[in-house]
Parts: sequence; structure tokens; C-alpha cells
Amino acid sequence: MRVVVVGTGIAGLITAYRASAQHDVVLVTKAELAESNTKYAQGGIAAALFPDDSAASHIEDTLRAGAGLCDLPAVEVLCTEGPQRVRDLIALGVEFDRAADGELARGHEAAHSARRVIHAGGDATGLAIEVALLRAVRSIAVEVHEHTFMRDLVVERDTEGAERVVGIDAVAPDGSAFRIDADVVVLASGGAGQLYRHTTNPAVTTGDGIAAAWRAGAELADVEFYQFHPTALAVPGSPLVSEAVRGEGAVLLDEHGRRFMFDVHPDGELAPRDVVARGIAAAMARQEGRPVLLDATGLEAAHHPGFLEERFPSITRVTREHGFDWTREPVPVTPAAHYWMGGVRTDLDGRTTLRGLYAVGEAACTGVHGANRLASNSLLESLVFAWRAADALDADAGTAPPAGEGRRLESAASRVHRLEVVPRSGSAASASRSPRPVAGAAGAATRADIQNLMWAAVGLERDATTLRTAAETLAEWSVDATTVAGLEDRNLLDLARIVTHAALVREESRGAHDRTDAPETREEWRHSLAWHLEAAALTEEVPA
Ligand SMILES: Cc1cc2nc3c(=O)[nH]c(=O)nc-3n(C[C@H](O)[C@H](O)[C@H](O)COP(=O)(O)OP(=O)(O)OC[C@H]3O[C@@H](n4cnc5c(N)ncnc54)[C@H](O)[C@@H]3O)c2cc1C
Repeated sequence: MRVVVVGTGIAGLITAYRASAQHDVVLVTKAELAESNTKYAQGGIAAALFPDDSAASHIEDTLRAGAGLCDLPAVEVLCTEGPQRVRDLIALGVEFDRAADGELARGHEAAHSARRVIHAGGDATGLAIEVALLRAVRSIAVEVHEHTFMRDLVVERDTEGAERVVGIDAVAPDGSAFRIDADVVVLASGGAGQLYRHTTNPAVTTGDGIAAAWRAGAELADVEFYQFHPTALAVPGSPLVSEAVRGEGAVLLDEHGRRFMFDVHPDGELAPRDVVARGIAAAMARQEGRPVLLDATGLEAAHHPGFLEERFPSITRVTREHGFDWTREPVPVTPAAHYWMGGVRTDLDGRTTLRGLYAVGEAACTGVHGANRLASNSLLESLVFAWRAADALDADAGTAPPAGEGRRLESAASRVHRLEVVPRSGSAASASRSPRPVAGAAGAATRADIQNLMWAAVGLERDATTLRTAAETLAEWSVDATTVAGLEDRNLLDLARIVTHAALVREESRGAHDRTDAPETREEWRHSLAWHLEAAALTEEVPA
């Protein structure tokens, strides 16, 4: 089969590497090869690799963080297959840090009941993975298109009348449009941190694959759940200060030097991410929006001088670049959009609900994260499910790749919400034509407009009135999609509308979704919301 893989983070590289043994693989990526969320991952990758740990304990922690919305079979796959996949990653050349006795060094992160997070290069885990996987992929026969932007999926009706994906429409480095035919397309195009004004994600994270899948008719799920990392350095670009820093013992202080997290949660700084992020946001609100402080100075005393630089070299460099010496002084931090639990809905093998389309990594919604991701589970999810998707490609080869069975859908009419208010700002059908402005300039919006609105209205805290106003504003906005940046804006606008509507529909607070007007977690909402453009409906899923 001819397999087009879109994206060169961990998910795309694993898929391409493994699929190339059986198939002709075409790898497409919109920036230079290494640019991705993966490259910036710091803390590490979680897996029950050690004798004092177990997959059962990892499963339990993952389910607890997911606040009742995790898909149990997916979590079981993640945690039971994870350890072997990490060993496979080591065999592929990733050099994780080791303790003096030669054993893998392991860190502790929030809401994990065991020290099970392994890391590389101190806090440069993602870079080590990216470099090793790129080396592996370069050693095999894969056709690579760098600086090539996937604009849309190409969808055709097959002989049985079913729609299926048969390729991608792309923009070449010189700006010209061209098509790449495929038997199967695997989206490994990552998340959409650029939806928000403050994000730890790099510029490539504009949700292109998820938006294209939605326009093509695939289902999205759990889109209202966006995880905000509690601690980004409060400077332009919001560089991440890993959770592992708090795992090692750093504390959060308000501007009066008072430790405030124990007022919020018994686990203090190591409470689940959303709790810490909201605790910080509340503390910032009490001090007129000024950032709180992360104090890691005690770590030097607790370990040895030079510990911070040794354990967290990247963060040390970034803090220094911004004029801070975090061995001697607390540094200012703020929450920032970090990880999208939602994405293109898949089965346990990466198949989406659209024939010929697979999704892996952050672009996919396998259901492992539920309403909130457990720290360091996303690299693992990308690895485990990309591996499985490559196997599924082999199994599906020679047959028309089936649509994923997905998870059970509740089809009672009372559970279907119409979505007419979400206009379609482009279409797969028009994808092969030249890019054109989506609408006139009357409601023209910039990327900053979208990001500011999402931060203010669909961020850490939401309420119906603000969400409704945001939805109306977004419905009126248009973008000029005549350039690659404009096409990215089109994707952000599509996704902003979907996220806002899903956040409005979910009238409860759960995991990363905090509704100040509906603060309780309600049993009747213990199910996912799945979006499907073609049916123009929102279908709620009730776990079995
Ligand atoms: C600062 C930071 C720290 C993190 N730390 C951790 C951690 O310690 N542990 C952990 O588990 N997770 C961590 N994460 C999350 C984790 O890095 C990501 O969830 C994971 O790397 C996603 O991998 P991916 O392959 O799915 O996507 P990505 O790595 O984001 O790769 C997406 C790829 O798709 C390409 N692409 C996107 N759109 C297009 C298009 N239209 N056309 C062509 N190509 C396209 C991009 O250029 C990129 O190559 C962190 C994230 C960030 C930002």
C-alpha cells in the first residue's frame, strides 16, 4: 500500500519507521523534520518498567486523572503495552538517563503513585527521542516532503458508495499546490496549542490534521478538554517549566512568599495538573493577574550545588536567557495551554470513523486521557498507538481499510444536538481548488483575535454566558485563507468553534473543563461528546 504519514513527531516517525517494512511510505511535514511538540517534551515518558511498580497501578492513576471519562480498554492497552514499547524505543537508539548503578533513572510527576517517568538529557527527553527516531527513519526507504503543508484530505466515494480518503492536497515549499495519492493517510499532525494566547506549544501546532479530518467527515471527540500546564515561565513564548521540577520538590509561592497550593488540595504542588493550574490562576487573580513564583532554590540545598543545571539543563538555559538565576531566586510562572485531550476519534488501532484515514499521537483521541491527561502519558500514547496503527496497516493491507468501529455510540434522538451554528469555513470537496478567502473582510479576524478570545472565554474557566458570546463572535469571524498561514488560521477558526460549542454543551465541571456556572461533576455527563460534520450533529457516548 501507499501510506502517507502527515507529521514527524514521535507518532509520525514511529508509524513511518514500522510501516516502511511492508508499505511505500510518504512522510509529509510542514516545517523542518524535527519541529514538533515532541522535540520540546521535557519531563519524560511514563511506563511501569520497575519491579516496585505495575501496569495495574499505572492504569489506576491514569483513570483517576481522567475524571471518569477514560476509555478503559484503551488505558489497559497503554499501560500494559507501554513498558515493552519503551524498551523498543531504547532499541531504536533513544538513550534514557541512567543512575550511577546503570539502571534507568526515574523521576516522579504529579498524580503518579510511583516513580515511573524516565527521561533523557535531563529535561530534553523529546529531543533525544526525536533525534533517535529521525536517525532510524533516515536509514530506511521513506519518501520525505519537508516544508510541505497538508491543506486538506482528499475524499472520494468508492465503488460501494462509501466515502474514503484517497490522498492529501498539499502546498509545496514554493507555494504551489499538489496532490499526493494514497491508499491510506495517517494523521500524526499533533495538537493545537496555537488556539490560545499562552501556550507551551511551538508555532506548528495549529490543529491542521484535526480540522482537515473534521471537514472530511471524520468524528472528533473530547474536544472541550484542553489541558493547561500550570507552570510556563511568564515571559513571551511561555516556555514550559516541567512538572518534574515540582516532582523534585520545588514549591509555588504567591507574591507575598506564601505557599498557597495546600489551601487548594491535600497534595499541594503535586495535585493533578488542572487543580494546580486553577490554583495558580486563582492566586494570580488575587494579585491582579501578576504571575506566581516557582521556588526551586531548595533543590540545590537538598541535593548538591549544580543539581538544577544537571537535572534540568534546558530549563536552566531558558531561565538564564530571560535573566533569571533559579538556583538563587524564585521564577515567575503562569498557566498555558499545553495538551489537547480531544482529537480525531479512533479505535484501539488508530482507525478513524472515515475509511482510509488513521490518526495517531496528539491528533488522535483514543480515549486514554479522558477529561485530563496524566503527566508523561502522551509520549507513551503516541508510541503505543502509532505502533499498533502500523500493525493494523499490515493487517488491513489488501482490503479496503475499514472504518474504525469506534466506541459505542448512544443514538437516542434526545442525545443528538444539532450543530447548525458551526459554519463550515472550508470543505474537503473544495480542497483541490485554489485556496481562496473564506469570506469578505467584514468579519475578518486575525490569529491573535482567535487566540485572545479563546484564552479569555474558553480557557481555564468557562461559563455559559461567556461561551455563548464567544460562539456568536466566532461564527461571524472569517479568515483570509490564501496563504499557508491563512490556511492555519482557517483550521484554528474551525477548531475554536467546535471547542467553544462543546464547552457550552457540557454543563458540568470535569477534569480540565471547569464551568464556574456548573461547578459540580454530574453523573449524567459521564460520557464523551463526539462531533461529526456530515450529520451536523453532536452525539453523546455513554461508556458501557
Ligand atoms: C513543552 C512541552 C513539553 C512536553 N513534555 C512532555 C513530557 O514530558 N511527557 C509527555 O508525555 N508529553 C509531553 N508533552 C506532550 C508531547 O510532547 C506531545 O503530546 C507529543 O509529542 C505529540 O506527538 P505527536 O507526534 O502526536 O505530535 P507532534 O510531536 O506535535 O508532531 C506533529 C507533527 O505534525 C506536523 N504537522 C502539523 N500540521 C501539519 C500539516 N498541515 N502538514 C504537514 N505537517 C504537519 C508538525 O510539523 C510536526 O512534525 C510536552 C509538550 C510540550 C509542548
